[in-house]
Amino acid sequence: MFQVLEPHTVTILTTDKCTARCRHCCMNSSPERANKLTHEQIATALGQMFQHYRMKVVVFAGGEPTLLGDDLLKSIAFCKKHGVGSRIVTNAYWADTPENATAMCKELREAGLDELNISMDDYHEPYVAFANVKRAWQAAKEFDFSAVAIANCYGPQSVLTPDFLEEELGMKEDVKIQRRFDVDGRSTGFEKQIHQTTFVLSNGNVQRLGRGADLIADEEIARESYNTHIATIGGCPHAVRAAALTPRNHLVSCCGFELHGNPILDFGEVTDGNLDRLVENADNDLIVNMIAMIGPPRIMELLKDFCPDEVSFPRSIYQSYCEVCHDLVGIAQNRQAMYKYQGMFASHILAAREGLAEKYQPVLGHGLPLEIGVNIKVERLVPDIELAYDHAHAVREASKRASSAEGASGPSPSPTEIA
Ligand code: SF4
Ligand code: SF4
Repeated sequence: MFQVLEPHTVTILTTDKCTARCRHCCMNSSPERANKLTHEQIATALGQMFQHYRMKVVVFAGGEPTLLGDDLLKSIAFCKKHGVGSRIVTNAYWADTPENATAMCKELREAGLDELNISMDDYHEPYVAFANVKRAWQAAKEFDFSAVAIANCYGPQSVLTPDFLEEELGMKEDVKIQRRFDVDGRSTGFEKQIHQTTFVLSNGNVQRLGRGADLIADEEIARESYNTHIATIGGCPHAVRAAALTPRNHLVSCCGFELHGNPILDFGEVTDGNLDRLVENADNDLIVNMIAMIGPPRIMELLKDFCPDEVSFPRSIYQSYCEVCHDLVGIAQNRQAMYKYQGMFASHILAAREGLAEKYQPVLGHGLPLEIGVNIKVERLVPDIELAYDHAHAVREASKRASSAEGASGPSPSPTEIA
């Protein structure tokens, strides 16, 4: 059977420890936390990934990945040895002097690191001085990375905005800097420079994920929602296809927010020889397929419409797919509703998978490329989603009628897996 959902990139969440405690941290990292992966665990997972899947890039994030020390360098070298690109996402706490900034960039580059991402915004700034980021940026330019990026998220009250960073870092005069997103939040599809460093400003809206869900106030977020894009985006392109390894060595769907232990998107502990089975289970899971193909916003809308008394979506505005997913898979009541009603969508998801297999198996063999997902339209991939909804209604009504006839609660549709 054609495997649709399989990893094309992976984020290694090296540790949940961090030198900072940013208010918006989607991974809930802090100085007090202490879970971390060893190089052996990382190599075990990556070795299986490289063996079974077409991996494009490995991202080392956290927490703060450089806290892993030699184990990080060895893991970067492991990627290099296997011909797979690598990136780290760091807060640059280490760039406290020009010499230390240079030393860290040198060490990372010599280990084989391709891309350096440095985070800076209003939420990082209380913990890591902006001067560190300047030093790291200046030092990185000397080391021939394939890409150097500043990851910035901002809202209407932000001081450290993309414009501010461009100005302060002297980016405009210094290097050709490309923004990752346009004013509407859509990917610009920036050009990768050949034989020279690509400089990127990754400018995203601040999102309320992880502890940010409680600590970021309404006034701090842009008042735009995923609804502006709902007509053109279908399922989540990142589910499984941009998987992550947690600091406690579990394979999870993505790095959208802290998913370790989530009953739907945590696929289990990675051991020597089991990773392809964990991926196969994820690819066979109906709710995971619904998230990947229908998408969290559409699932939320369907559930709110279909069984309003059984679900809870407490936010007045949902800004992104991940914010919806956070509440969809994170709130027990919503999980129960999905378990209960998922069977009604099984035949439609199966039809969509068969369509994908017909189209892509002859050319790819297996695995849906990451790029394809971004452009999938709900209408095209699940052409009869409205029929699925009507069908679900009919089943529900029939179940209600049967219940009242029997004078007892009718059976709930059982959780279903795609065989
Ligand atoms: S957002 Fe990044 S720097 Fe801030 S606490 Fe989380 S992992 Fe650390
Ligand atoms: S929508 Fe869900 S599955 Fe997709 S990236 Fe966000 S958290 Fe992950």
